[in-house]
Amino acid sequence: MPDKSRYFSREELKCPCGCERCEMDVGFLMALDILRDHWRAPLVPNSAFRCRKHNKAVGGEDESMHIYGRAVDFPIKPNERYKFVELVIELGFHGIGIMANAIHLDNRLGAKTLFHYYGKEKKKK
Ligand SMILES: [Zn+2]
Ligand SMILES: [Zn+2]
Repeated sequence: MPDKSRYFSREELKCPCGCERCEMDVGFLMALDILRDHWRAPLVPNSAFRCRKHNKAVGGEDESMHIYGRAVDFPIKPNERYKFVELVIELGFHGIGIMANAIHLDNRLGAKTLFHYYGKEKKKK
């Protein structure tokens, strides 16, 4: 099992707080590569791995999948959002979160869920 993504660099995935940690889940990285294979266009994460301190600073949920390296936020153009959500459902991502300017994806354990950040967006990143 490769431990590096074919598409996403450490720079793009690491915690942005300066701690330099980048503890992405290997299975999740593979799922992102498969997503990128199907999408056939660049995807640049807004946010991927977060240490607990940074997650708290940006108002993330206490047990956000970002701290486990199993979540990513991609900015997706409004006219491409339907196509993107259709694809990530097809590929079996478990958590899909809709933000005003980005789509959160994760592979949480348990039931699949679609949610939005309405009312929380100001402190979210
Ligand atoms: Zn950090
Ligand atoms: Zn997120």
